[in-house]
Amino acid sequence: MGNIKTLGVIGGGTMGNGIAHVAARSGFKVILHDIEQRSLDQALSTITKNLEREVAKGKITGDDKAAALSRIVPATKNSALSDVDFVIEAVVENVDIKSRVFGAMDEIARPDVILASNTSSISITKIASKTKRPGKVIGMHFMNPVPVMTLVEIVRGLSTSDETSQTTNRLALSLGKTPVEVNDYPGFVSNRVLMPMINEAIFCVMEGVGTPEAVDSVMKLGMNHPIGPLALADLIGLDVCLDIMEVLHTGLGDPKHRPCPLLRRMVDAGQLGRKSGRGFYEY
Ligand code: NAD
Repeated sequence: MGNIKTLGVIGGGTMGNGIAHVAARSGFKVILHDIEQRSLDQALSTITKNLEREVAKGKITGDDKAAALSRIVPATKNSALSDVDFVIEAVVENVDIKSRVFGAMDEIARPDVILASNTSSISITKIASKTKRPGKVIGMHFMNPVPVMTLVEIVRGLSTSDETSQTTNRLALSLGKTPVEVNDYPGFVSNRVLMPMINEAIFCVMEGVGTPEAVDSVMKLGMNHPIGPLALADLIGLDVCLDIMEVLHTGLGDPKHRPCPLLRRMVDAGQLGRKSGRGFYEY
């Protein structure tokens, strides 16, 4: 895509490896940086498996797979990102860690480089303030699983420039995604609409309005949702759902966003959904 040839992806977890996969498959060179060698090893093995699945489905050829893998360069040092053309950050959802990563990237990346964050809920405006290039900081909110989901929510911070937004929209298109631009408010559009629905579904269970199976069946059969809100909460992780409800509650100050007490109790009990083996359902 024009002058963007090499992408820096920071964080090789669930989202980072998906972003690296899609970028490499779209012809970009990718420097994949994570502080943990273990995460990088895991990321490369996941990307290999997911590319193999695409070969099996006839979406790409074996040669495409080999070419995509050869474009990904893993790195445990952030200095490896000194000459990338665009950065997408996908480290853990923690404002202090993201602030440190953006502060460091501002020193390491060339001054013309856009720094994008895949955050689900943290303020882009706040992250941008940790850099000397707030006009070049933007949200690029991919959906999970990245190789499958077509939406990228492009989030403009208070200082994001028109040029940054245009370049980022073009990049999303060249990754085969559909960008939708929104402004930086707590939860953006995706989680501001989705999470209160999930939270209300949890209230329905807490108040005995229906069992988890009943609530999910109503939403699947009656509203044509492919997955019920409680099964989706288990997939996202109940701890993540609670964090996002707290962001909405604090950021918007509206009591309608209070996290459901049952959600809080389940997180306290370590019932986090699929990743812990138990949430609204057993895995
Ligand atoms: P994850 O825990 O799977 O991966 C995070 C990775 O970041 C880990 O490999 C960790 O080693 C690495 N890391 C931590 N600190 C780092 C640092 N300072 N420098 C480099 N790497 C570092 O997390 P995830 O689910 O991939 O989420 C990443 C981001 O994407 C978060 O902001 C999250 O809110 C957002 N997001 C997640 C989803 C989802 O469904 N999981 C969906 C959309 C957006």
